[in-house]
Amino acid sequence: MRPEDFFRPDILAASAYHVPDAGGFIKLDAMENPYDWPPEMVDAWLDHLRQAHPNRYPDPQAPALKQALRRHAGVPEEMAILLGNGSDEIIQILLMALVGRAGATVLAPQPTFVMYREIARWLNLDFVGVPLRDDFGLDHEAMLNAIDRHRPKIVFLAYPNNPTGNLFDAAAVEAVIRAAPGLVVVDEAYAPFAGATFMDRLGEFDHLLVMRTLSKLGLAGLRLGFLAGPPVWLEQFDKLRLPYNINVLTQLSAEFALDHAEVFERQTAAIRAERDRLFQALAQLPGVEPFPSAANFILFRVAEADRVFEVLKRQRILIKNLSPAGGPLHGCLRVTVGTPEETQAFLEALRTVL
Ligand code: PMP
Repeated sequence: MRPEDFFRPDILAASAYHVPDAGGFIKLDAMENPYDWPPEMVDAWLDHLRQAHPNRYPDPQAPALKQALRRHAGVPEEMAILLGNGSDEIIQILLMALVGRAGATVLAPQPTFVMYREIARWLNLDFVGVPLRDDFGLDHEAMLNAIDRHRPKIVFLAYPNNPTGNLFDAAAVEAVIRAAPGLVVVDEAYAPFAGATFMDRLGEFDHLLVMRTLSKLGLAGLRLGFLAGPPVWLEQFDKLRLPYNINVLTQLSAEFALDHAEVFERQTAAIRAERDRLFQALAQLPGVEPFPSAANFILFRVAEADRVFEVLKRQRILIKNLSPAGGPLHGCLRVTVGTPEETQAFLEALRTVL
């Protein structure tokens, strides 16, 4: 048998998710925390890892880690937690549950985080994208109409949204939750920068789930995301989770990191301050239209996005070009908030290109 006889035509025609090689670059493309740990914290971490038993499978339930996450994120007592190898994996688990359900539809505003649509596509689920307003706000009425028409089994709302960076109006989100006939997942990947959450409203709606990740806090390399929600839902999803999805080193490292939460609080506070400074600087550049952000990145529009992106890249500054996606993202570039030095280098390069 040849691959052509094995794979679906849409898989054969697709290209793999592209992660550019960033060696030697100022890397401002992937919403990573730019700050390393203090050296004494690295030493303490490596000591902590001595208790690892790589010959043993990890604890499939990881109760200590869940308890630490519960405290860190303020997950209400009566809610359950499901861990994922990054929140990407949680999206996959959520959607895998719908495979084989006739007419199961996934709905999300557009543009938003691409994985909702990508994973739905690989699983052959129907995906409905509802355009955001021109200012990237949630189009309340369009969302309610689409929900009424498609009766989605699951709605994803990234809060704040990626790649636009804004927080949707909380009342509009609430209206979507009230109207949705299925589950609503509020994806709070950027919570450390947002100052807004639906976590404390979990008990209010029995079909609301809140998803978080430690990636943007500063632990992207560990791959740890989690879902919080009513036990009746999470018990079922847990059956679809691979039992050993969170490895020994990740469990120990995340527990250690959450024990040093003040370090990450300092780092994310610095990133928030730097974001506001970067926004002001972008807003002052002629021909640059930055969009307000509650996350650790800023989306901005320029006249010649492809050219700007390429010239920055030649100067070893890597950002994300969203212009090829077209539509409302035409002309748009996304820059992650880095260190003040990185911001400086980025702004100087941008000034020269413009
Ligand atoms: N949700 C949103 C909105 C994101 O932007 C991202 C990462 N870009 C994720 C989820 C996935 O994060 P991770 O898999 O690292 O937890």
